[in-house]
Amino acid sequence: MPNSKYFSLLLFFAASFLASPSLNGQSTRPDAEKKLAHDIYKEFIEIQSGFTTGSTTPVAEAAAARLKAAGFSESDIFLGGANPRKANLVVRYRGTGKLKPILLLAHIDVVEAKREDWSMDPFQLNERDGYFYGRGTGDDKAQAAIWIANLIQYKKEGFKPDRDIIVALTADEEGGGPFNGVDWLIANHRDSIDAEFCLNEGGWGEMINGKHVANYLQVAEKYVVNFRFEVRNKGGHSSLPVADNAIYHLAGGLQRLSQFGFPLKTNEVTKPYFQQMANIEPGPLKQDLAAVAQGSQEAMQRVAATSAAFNATLRTTCVATLLEGGHAMNALPQLAAATVNCRVLPEDSADYVLTTLREVVADDQVSVKPLGQPEPGPVSPLRPDVLDAARRATESHWHGVPVVPNMVMGATDGKRLRMSGIPTYGIQGIFIDRDDVRFHGRDERIMIDSFYEGQSFLFDLVKLLAKPN
Ligand SMILES: [Zn+2]
Repeated sequence: MPNSKYFSLLLFFAASFLASPSLNGQSTRPDAEKKLAHDIYKEFIEIQSGFTTGSTTPVAEAAAARLKAAGFSESDIFLGGANPRKANLVVRYRGTGKLKPILLLAHIDVVEAKREDWSMDPFQLNERDGYFYGRGTGDDKAQAAIWIANLIQYKKEGFKPDRDIIVALTADEEGGGPFNGVDWLIANHRDSIDAEFCLNEGGWGEMINGKHVANYLQVAEKYVVNFRFEVRNKGGHSSLPVADNAIYHLAGGLQRLSQFGFPLKTNEVTKPYFQQMANIEPGPLKQDLAAVAQGSQEAMQRVAATSAAFNATLRTTCVATLLEGGHAMNALPQLAAATVNCRVLPEDSADYVLTTLREVVADDQVSVKPLGQPEPGPVSPLRPDVLDAARRATESHWHGVPVVPNMVMGATDGKRLRMSGIPTYGIQGIFIDRDDVRFHGRDERIMIDSFYEGQSFLFDLVKLLAKPN
């Protein structure tokens, strides 16, 4: 029957709207739940868990203590990690088992923060002028605290989901490296986090001048490849210079790189993203954004020129980040080298980037080699259940605000999960002003209202996904 598919889809939507027990139209949770989320958040922020100088273990232990006090059994809580300073916490909230579990992920390590760089103590939760300040307030301890607070509330209510809800708070996302908590769990305790899909950081909400404009659902990420540009030379006495100079070879290559741009293009995620952004955009960019979605090269060039973020969404980028060379003021350099950091579109291979860089450098004195063997992560399929639940929870919190699937330029642990076969969606419902993203920076902050709205949004979203009916 030609119409049966359409009809069943209609039934599906009708059924899902009728049965929406958790959507109560409120934009924040009741005071007692807000206080619990706040207290957990404060506790997490005030534990130093910088990925080099701190430890995630006390954060994981604090979460475990909260869960046990709320009645979670020892056997449903796992604490462990690559070493004693890198503990992860995994807790399982039991459902009926009708469906495969959902995994809720947040990392509990943070980027380092020095007191002297900040205008306040980065390891105190400061509340002022409508903001929460502190290292990790945005990245990623808000979501970590919210997952735990909401799980405790589900238990209080006796919520019985169709699937287990697993929360994993993990180490070393910021450091990546050998102690990455997600990698460690996949390698050593895959069963404990195995899930049909995962919700993670990396998809926040965007505000422009205080107005909520889009709630992002991150389904893809660029990936990182670092290259070393290196020139070796026999050197000599600086009083007898010759044209063949390692520093000049390197500088020439870097100069050519600075003038080069990878091709501008869209992919399966960014094409609809630009169409949605065109719908939202209030300013003169509206038409160009729509033309980008139609594939116009001229529009892509204009849009890329307006912001670093749009530029990075439309192409693979490579930029020089570190430099070394020479060994004495009075000697011709025997070595000149640079590190070039590339953020690669998921559909571009590392080999393609390498070949292109060699062509751009166009100097066989400059060797170009990748550092490590990076791989792209797959794009998460746009699951109708995830998109539908995200839309419904978004609509009930911020009427009229669209859910916009997107690709992010940065990297999260979502890539590792996607590579291991667990589709991962970055969604937080925590809204941040377009010009006020301070992750990794000085005086990191999020709006107090955004935190509590995010708590309520994620509370509803997880319920919809854990007990779809
Ligand atoms: Zn993060």
